[in-house]
Amino acid sequence: MAHDEDDDQQTQDLRTDTAPGTTAADSAARRDQAVRAAVEQGVVGPGAPVAGLLDIAGIRASAAALRAAFEAVTPPGTPVLHAFAVKATPLVPVLRLLRAAGIGAEVASPGELALARAAGIAPADTVLDSPAKTPAELRQALALGIAVNADNPQELARVDALVQSAPTASPVGLRVNPQIGGGAIGALSTATATSKFGVPLLDEGAREWVIQAFLDRPWLTRLHAHSGSQGMPLEMMARGVEATYELAEAINGRAGRRQVDTIDIGGGLPVNFGSDEESPTHAQYARRLKARVPGLLDGRYGLVTEFGRSLLAKHGTLLARVEYAKEAGGRPIAVTHAGVQVATRTVYAPLSWPLRIAAYDAQGRPRSGPAVGQDIAGPACFAGDLLAENRPLPLLEPGDHIAALDTGAYYFAQHYSYNSLARPGIYGFSLHGDDVRFAAAREPQTLDEIVAESGGGSERDALRYL
Ligand SMILES: *Cc1c(COP(=O)(O)O)cnc(C)c1O
Repeated sequence: MAHDEDDDQQTQDLRTDTAPGTTAADSAARRDQAVRAAVEQGVVGPGAPVAGLLDIAGIRASAAALRAAFEAVTPPGTPVLHAFAVKATPLVPVLRLLRAAGIGAEVASPGELALARAAGIAPADTVLDSPAKTPAELRQALALGIAVNADNPQELARVDALVQSAPTASPVGLRVNPQIGGGAIGALSTATATSKFGVPLLDEGAREWVIQAFLDRPWLTRLHAHSGSQGMPLEMMARGVEATYELAEAINGRAGRRQVDTIDIGGGLPVNFGSDEESPTHAQYARRLKARVPGLLDGRYGLVTEFGRSLLAKHGTLLARVEYAKEAGGRPIAVTHAGVQVATRTVYAPLSWPLRIAAYDAQGRPRSGPAVGQDIAGPACFAGDLLAENRPLPLLEPGDHIAALDTGAYYFAQHYSYNSLARPGIYGFSLHGDDVRFAAAREPQTLDEIVAESGGGSERDALRYL
């Protein structure tokens, strides 16, 4: 990784941090302290009834733990790039924080690539995936020297033409689908027989086609598979990596040289949404790979990883005020400001994406009291806008707060503009003794911005004169 001076300074700060705790209890204690301070300091209040909070010490600890996990299972000097999947938390300050911690970026759209570049991530630390790259996107990536993983034969043919027309420093790989089967969440499973991603290795003739594609293209040097996702058992993920490694060995055997020099194992480590415990850990996954696919980690191959959720999810807290507390059909309902706009998956697919909810009082202190089944509702105008149904919690009152936990990835940073609800502010926090400091990673969206983004500018009269 390239470091500039301010990043070196941040790395320095990391070393002198008051021992960023990595245990579940540490992170829960930091969260309670941050919620209290967010209420006291007005980060959340009547005028800003919902915000996302990011635990900076937790993110740094996870980044360091990820690097250590793979260092522990590879010989010194093995090239390993950990490319954070930008889609998990698409915020430039987060990418810069990770960059300072030695983490690159995996991007899958022009927008994500623009974010990675804005964060100063070096091309050598950037990987472009995505199942629908246009010729212009491919040309840009190859011109910048960003690693590109082609998804399918048609895309590879486009890359052929571009590689012949201009030299490139980009390592080029091919994405394969080991077709190991799906996990518990169908919509997220990337390695089913009919998944839209990559070349399906078990389809008739496909494996031989891949081998020949490599033999025909000496510049094709990487294999990519991303077969994990939330709901996937570690053993299945390891099997997908094993199939990819065996294919690399087969290609290199046929080529008579180490043509495939790097294997990109993707991300997809599941996250525990049931408690503060981080499980499985990156270290457990790395050890599982070491046991199952030792040849992958013996130093002959460079490695790329693309973790998203497992790096960020547990470090985000969605904090919202309770506006009203009502009752319907005997069910208490807390009407809050966090709903489908900031927890889209949970609201639309509550059985796949249950979130832990913590109750806090008007001062931001953990609320106590006997647990009563309550609905935690959001502000949107449809009946299903619920963060949790009949959840046992101390009875909430107007002015209290609720926190939706483990929401640092794929939640408040992925706003959904239903009801023209404003994108909430996102704030990093860090503890300095009893003092909690906040910094905005993304300012709250203003009403003027909502109007402008909704055609309220020069498009205002566009339809009247058509
Ligand atoms: C989404 C995605 C990732 C990250 O997945 P997580 O489950 O967040 O770790 C990595 N690689 C690719 C190609 C992806 O599409």
